[in-house]
Amino acid sequence: MNFNCSNCQKKVDFNAPGTKNRNHCPYCLYSIHIDIEIGDRKNKCMGLMRPIGKLLKQDGEEVLVHKCETCGEVRKNRIAGDDDWDLVKNLPILEKDVLFTPNHPCNETSIW
Ligand SMILES: [Zn+2]
Ligand SMILES: [Zn+2]
Repeated sequence: MNFNCSNCQKKVDFNAPGTKNRNHCPYCLYSIHIDIEIGDRKNKCMGLMRPIGKLLKQDGEEVLVHKCETCGEVRKNRIAGDDDWDLVKNLPILEKDVLFTPNHPCNETSIW
């Protein structure tokens, strides 16, 4: 399954190394707001989600943080193996306590 990135217009394959549910573009890291639960593609928002930074998990893995330009929702996303590493590297590291409300249903807590 493919989609065209709404930000850079490149063609993106949903099958990505290192993640089951690719939902962001490996070239510019933008995402589309299409999930309610991870991978369900049921969200009607369809807003452009901008990469605003990254979080460090306790085991040191970096996680992308996207913010929807339409509804403002913030989500965490796994970094895929073929994401543009220079872009990932240059994103600021965020304090997760600032961004996330505990137990908020929109948080993808299952990846922590
Ligand atoms: Zn893109
Ligand atoms: Zn949205």
